[in-house]
Amino acid sequence: MAKANENYLKLKAGYLFPEISRRINEFVEANPGKEVIRLGIGDVTRPLPPAAVKAFHEGVDDLAGTENFHGYGPEQGYAWLIDTIIEKAYNPLDVELDRSEMFISDGSKCDSANILDIFDLDNTVAIGDPVYPVYNDTNVMVGRTGEANEKGYYEGVVYMPCTEANNFMPEFPSENVDIIYLCYPNNPTGTVATKEQLKAWVDYALEKDAVILFDAAYEAFITEPGIPHSIYEIEGAKRCAIEFRSFSKTAGFTGVRCGLTVVPQELKVKGQSGDEVALNPLWNRRQSTKFNGVSYPVQRAAAAVYSDEGWTQVQETIDYYMENARIIREGLAEAGITCYGGVNAPYIWLKTPQGMSSWEFFDKLLQECFVVGTPGSGFGPSGEGYFRLSAFGERSTVEKAVSRIRDTWGK
Ligand SMILES: *Cc1c(COP(=O)(O)O)cnc(C)c1O
Repeated sequence: MAKANENYLKLKAGYLFPEISRRINEFVEANPGKEVIRLGIGDVTRPLPPAAVKAFHEGVDDLAGTENFHGYGPEQGYAWLIDTIIEKAYNPLDVELDRSEMFISDGSKCDSANILDIFDLDNTVAIGDPVYPVYNDTNVMVGRTGEANEKGYYEGVVYMPCTEANNFMPEFPSENVDIIYLCYPNNPTGTVATKEQLKAWVDYALEKDAVILFDAAYEAFITEPGIPHSIYEIEGAKRCAIEFRSFSKTAGFTGVRCGLTVVPQELKVKGQSGDEVALNPLWNRRQSTKFNGVSYPVQRAAAAVYSDEGWTQVQETIDYYMENARIIREGLAEAGITCYGGVNAPYIWLKTPQGMSSWEFFDKLLQECFVVGTPGSGFGPSGEGYFRLSAFGERSTVEKAVSRIRDTWGK
């Protein structure tokens, strides 16, 4: 008799986004003609950089003829793409990587989930709270956790609260942990880690023989100098960290799908026998067996992102989003609302005024400003009392939303 993986039954039904949709639909039905502005989404809205579109087309044309036809590519990605990323994105940070240490993929959601394949179930994981839900739910799916309690915390996972009280940088766990998820610039809080803070985590991981899974999906949005774009800017990180990057938010590839994972050759963990096991060959084996690489035209488009022309276009789009972020941040401040993030990340994390709960604020913002955001409590219990606004909108609607918020709270 076939049996299901019942770990999936431990997952709480996707509640956040269906509930948001339900409340919007209810509002729209009761208020026909009112223009609702959505600042809740975590998806880009601007088109691909023209240089990437051109290379994408050329890639397709190559496949249309016999001369430049490409079949299966290397599972790890084409060397010309890997070399370009190392040269353009890592070397300027003084980070040297070998080609064998980088794996091109169809995105970092997939990679941050699939990476669990190469770790024993016995490891204890630590994740932030609030958090990108993928880290939590994938650990539930593989069976590393027990059931969730009434707060939504799963048995066996170490949750690290990130709130105003610790400036959204978690304290070191008091219990033993083996795998630590860090995401900076952070989704949902929009906050960053300084070099000193990241160094403290690297030192901690090295001391505890733990591995850091570092999600750098938003590194391209960093505007302030001195904030690390890669964990490998920290000495010793190659011995304790895996890094995920994505073209999704950087270059508008959410619907195209391309990302990458770096697993340094120096990264080793203890095996059952006490001998050291290098993780790079395990990930290489995992990808070679379960993945057949990203399509050739997509990799062509990704390489074009790092051409001079492509990178200028990418910067223009990021500047556009970050100008939205500035408008939101300053508008909220004028309305007397405390907010975080939005300087080095496309998310603004606001503290709900007058002690409202996240959902109370959601309802008031919808009813009075016709603006939709994401309740912080949807990202974890410590997100209660916070609210996420995204800067991925269209300028005129962002301005309209902010002016409505100012009119409501700024009086
Ligand atoms: C959007 C996002 C990603 C990117 O995921 P892709 O699968 O590459 O589209 C990764 N991590 C976080 C925290 C994100 O918000």
